[in-house]
Amino acid sequence: MSTAHSPLNGTAPHLVGGVAAGWNSLSAVGPVRVTGASGPYIRDDQGRELLDFIMGWGSCFLGHDAPPIREALQKALAGGFLYQYETATHGMLAEEFCAVVPCADKLRLANSGLEATMYALRIARAVTGRRLVVKFEGHFHGLNDQLMWNVDTSEGPAAPGENGLLQRLPGAPGLPDEFGELVLPLPWNAPGLVDQVFAEHGDDIAAVILEPVCLNIGCVGPEPGFLEHLRAVTTRHDALLIFDEVLTGFRLALGGAQERFGVVPDLACYGKAFGCGMPIAGIAGHADFMDAVAPVGQVEVSGTNTGRYLSVVGALAALRELSTPGFYEHIEQLNDYLVTGVREVLGQHKVPAFVSGFGGRVGAHIGSSERPRNMADVARLYNLPYATELFRLLSTKFDLYGFLLPLSFCPEPVTVSAAHTTGHIDEALSRLDDALTELPY
Ligand code: PLP
Repeated sequence: MSTAHSPLNGTAPHLVGGVAAGWNSLSAVGPVRVTGASGPYIRDDQGRELLDFIMGWGSCFLGHDAPPIREALQKALAGGFLYQYETATHGMLAEEFCAVVPCADKLRLANSGLEATMYALRIARAVTGRRLVVKFEGHFHGLNDQLMWNVDTSEGPAAPGENGLLQRLPGAPGLPDEFGELVLPLPWNAPGLVDQVFAEHGDDIAAVILEPVCLNIGCVGPEPGFLEHLRAVTTRHDALLIFDEVLTGFRLALGGAQERFGVVPDLACYGKAFGCGMPIAGIAGHADFMDAVAPVGQVEVSGTNTGRYLSVVGALAALRELSTPGFYEHIEQLNDYLVTGVREVLGQHKVPAFVSGFGGRVGAHIGSSERPRNMADVARLYNLPYATELFRLLSTKFDLYGFLLPLSFCPEPVTVSAAHTTGHIDEALSRLDDALTELPY
């Protein structure tokens, strides 16, 4: 994940850099002051109607202002906002969640993906009594001090260090080296290196955490057998396998990546499409591990806003909508339509690229038509002057055309929601075609 921000000074001088959240400065279209949003569109105070392919960084999977969520919230609003205690709705959400997520005997709520990954590590360390965590280069688990290591493509891949591990690279200033020492960073899709690291540190590895499809550096899936390999190695060494399904959960299938790939982790982290725009996250897993959490066990996983009623109402409405028969077939059709369309347009302009998508999150790796295996492959292409120039051209053009794309964030994939249609995708493809006619080669 690149962290190249451009401050939006002047628009709201008392917000740091003009924004309430750092990632809000990453839009390719400059300052966006939202006045409303519906379906795939965001309206702003300059009267623009922007066709959104960011969709709340993948959260708004049902589109903006999705009627089933809005209606559920409107009904719930009459009864207060925060109780600090459960309602029947909390129990229903957990029951319906655990019915569709393969690893989930039990669910605990959280507020963000960052929190979910932090708590998952805490549970893993508590139940194993171990310290170390294996993570993969380019996999992003939120702005979590413990896991913001080896995440950034803009600096290129890390050099191989000792014994198969990569050199540890902090993802931002302010991360203590001591936190990095608890992380064992490895390249994705390298089973031999996983074995090597377990042979050396197996007795002190609490968990392996991963994005089952690395959607933060484009779409870099697991090679056949890799997830199964991680499942077997962690089981053999009594370490926990943690899927960070913050992006893949409820997107690749109702049961997420674990359903799609048929590999069941010990714990999994949720956010984004779990709430479809509502601020909610979760940690789910096998009862043996989840029962380490208070009040059954001793591990604290809580907070003032945790389990906020309105978020729970929204998440339940979202889950029921995602469970509608045909929902994922529709998403796959949109996904394939976009992948094929981008491939065709890039091909017509002789732009070498590998284009792929999962669950409506579609990425193009520019510079080679070979499938990238890991972050080293992605970073090599991303840092080519050719790719940089192309992204700059597209950012400028799509800004003019009124599209919200994560281009300043490349290779962050674009995101479609259930509210997009093939017509919206055609609009984007035709603009892509126009923009590429201006390529200087
Ligand atoms: N995990 C993954 C895979 C993510 O993509 C993200 C955010 O993009 C997070 C965790 C962090 O989620 P949040 O932004 O809700 O803290």
